[in-house]
Amino acid sequence: MKATVSEDCIGCGLCESTCPEVFSIGDEGTAEVIVDEVPEENEDSAQEAADNCPVSAITVE
Ligand code: SF4
Repeated sequence: MKATVSEDCIGCGLCESTCPEVFSIGDEGTAEVIVDEVPEENEDSAQEAADNCPVSAITVE
């Protein structure tokens, strides 16, 4: 599974709280994906982060 964050991110920090293994708020104040591939044990929380993003900026596939 790979995760991406679009330019729609508003930097609310929810994804980092939900799945800090994959998402981190970067220097620009928006979320970044910090792994090439989402580890299997983090797939559920990465999906949860995507589902809960208020601006639907996260894609996981
Ligand atoms: S939950 Fe969505 S809007 Fe909030 S920081 Fe993460 S990607 Fe950005």
